[in-house]
Amino acid sequence: MKKENNCPVIITRQDHGLSRKLMNPNALRILYRLKDNGFVGYLVGGCVRDLLLGREPKDFDVVTNATPGEVKRLFRNCRLVGRRFRLAHIHFQDEIIEVATFRSQVSNEQQPEPKVVQEAGHRQRHPRMMKDDDGMILRDNVYGTPEEDALRRDFTVNSLSYNIADFSIIDYTGGLDDLNAGIIRIIGDPDVRFQEDPVRMLRAVRFAAQLGFTIEEKTRMALVAAADTIARSAPPRLYDELLKLLLSGEGAKCYDLLRQTGLFQALFPDFSSWLAAESEGFPHTRFGEMLGYVDSRIQQGDKVSPPLLLALLFGQYIDEKAERFRRQGAPWQQSVDASVAEFLGETCPIIMIANRVGIALRDIISQQMRLKKIPGRRPETFIARHDFNDIIEYCRITRGDKKDVAKQLDWWAAQAKQQAPLPPPSGLTKESEAPQGKKKRRRRRRNPNAKSRTEGV
Ligand code: ATP
Ligand code: MG
Repeated sequence: MKKENNCPVIITRQDHGLSRKLMNPNALRILYRLKDNGFVGYLVGGCVRDLLLGREPKDFDVVTNATPGEVKRLFRNCRLVGRRFRLAHIHFQDEIIEVATFRSQVSNEQQPEPKVVQEAGHRQRHPRMMKDDDGMILRDNVYGTPEEDALRRDFTVNSLSYNIADFSIIDYTGGLDDLNAGIIRIIGDPDVRFQEDPVRMLRAVRFAAQLGFTIEEKTRMALVAAADTIARSAPPRLYDELLKLLLSGEGAKCYDLLRQTGLFQALFPDFSSWLAAESEGFPHTRFGEMLGYVDSRIQQGDKVSPPLLLALLFGQYIDEKAERFRRQGAPWQQSVDASVAEFLGETCPIIMIANRVGIALRDIISQQMRLKKIPGRRPETFIARHDFNDIIEYCRITRGDKKDVAKQLDWWAAQAKQQAPLPPPSGLTKESEAPQGKKKRRRRRRNPNAKSRTEGV
């Protein structure tokens, strides 16, 4: 099925067998209302791809020819967001559905004047598509046709849409063929598309690993050639994309692809050099092993927090740094702080790890010492920490095979079990039904060294 003369391939309702029962009811409600008011409305992107593959979509995105203002007038529960490209967010009780107006991605040369959309009697100013000197998109803000909207998307399999008017699937790029053949192919000129937005390289890797697809040859060659440019992307965006990739449930496959393509070296230059070296004659294999473990947890439906993920992946590297500081005479806690700071200092200029995640990572590593002190001071306070489970999990996975460590973990597990809140006695489910006994007032202990707040005033 190849598209000819810019005509899309259209798969009718009878021929694709996609049931509306599998679609998000709120997204369908939006589409019906758009249609009833004379607008075009499509489901688009990852949700159509996933539905066709029999996978559960993560989110449902809607596109329409209605302008954001027109969408707002149709839905009371709508808020417009985004300064550069306005998007409509339709709020429901427990979710938000994004509704975008068809957008085009026209190159600077092709677009001498901005398209301006007339809205509610006033001209809306649209900053046009802008690229920097290296061809990276800085702004992408031009309304377009359904075809232009499909062509500006990243991969053919991500450009399919589902038309609410006749329940057909529309394919402008050959995405259906690629979906059937298991191919990730970038739309348009691969060199240009990766230059415009290097993050697409990480997305190619993630979709290939997650869907079990292969990256098409020209796309792959362009990706390998552009791998070094990945660090030009905004560091917070790279952090978000990398998290998605490492927590996709196929992190080990992603890691292989990242290394084969040169992306890993470009993302983690210092860590990569360390990985390639050995410690005391042993190669560094922990990163790959830990990803295997994280994948198994995710595939079982468990969640792994970002700080725990980072601790598992980079803990050994950080420990070696800490050891270096210790040999230079730093006390234990200080050496951990300094090594985590050094790791963040290397990583954050490329991949922006949020401050609170960096602090949580440091805590998981530095609190390992506390696990050895049994019972130590106030174990109940330690168990009540919000990151207690991550601290325990990190210890179990990295050192749990040692006999003494296993014993310590058993002790903490027993304590934590004792401390777990007891379930309410049977028959007493609502708070209002509980006996209204006199509340015990807890006296706050005063720190004898603390100065009175009013002292000296
Ligand atoms: P996921 O299952 O991760 O949600 P997805 O394909 O839906 O996969 P989103 O990040 O939700 O990915 O993006 C929705 C759609 O927007 C994509 O399917 C794609 O069509 C388009 N898109 C997203 N990021 C880009 C990009 N960097 N360049 C071009 N198009 C993009
Ligand atoms: Mg999505």
